[in-house]
Amino acid sequence: MAKRTIVTKEDPVLRKKSRPVEKVDDRIRILLDDMYDTMKEVGVGLAAVQVGILRRVVVIDIGDGRIDLVNPEIIATEGEQEEIEGCLSCPGENGYILRPLKATVKALDYNGNEFTMTGEGLLARAFCHEIDHLDGILFLDKVTEMVEFDD
Ligand code: ZN
Repeated sequence: MAKRTIVTKEDPVLRKKSRPVEKVDDRIRILLDDMYDTMKEVGVGLAAVQVGILRRVVVIDIGDGRIDLVNPEIIATEGEQEEIEGCLSCPGENGYILRPLKATVKALDYNGNEFTMTGEGLLARAFCHEIDHLDGILFLDKVTEMVEFDD
């Protein structure tokens, strides 16, 4: 596995729409492994576009295990939450975002098998945040209020 470079919001690639994956092959698995290596110590999720690859591929780990999502779609949501988010492509920026409290995602896994998973709280936010990236949307577009942290 290898770490890749995370692109930041000045890069216009982040505004492009990612293309669906036709087949989960070794190239996609290497991408997933590299993306996990790139984000595991610094964040809770990463979309392929953030390493410059316009494919609908996402890795999430909110601290209880790796979740690989290929061609993910949100198929159901419930409730709402307003919490602070940040993004590895927008270092130093944080703000409140309104998201569903629960989100159910349908996707292909590391082996190309379809599955569905429901996330609540942080996991629901991660699903929504990363899938937004696949459509060229940044969390900054949805912030209701920016937050300053003192370091
Ligand atoms: Zn992000």
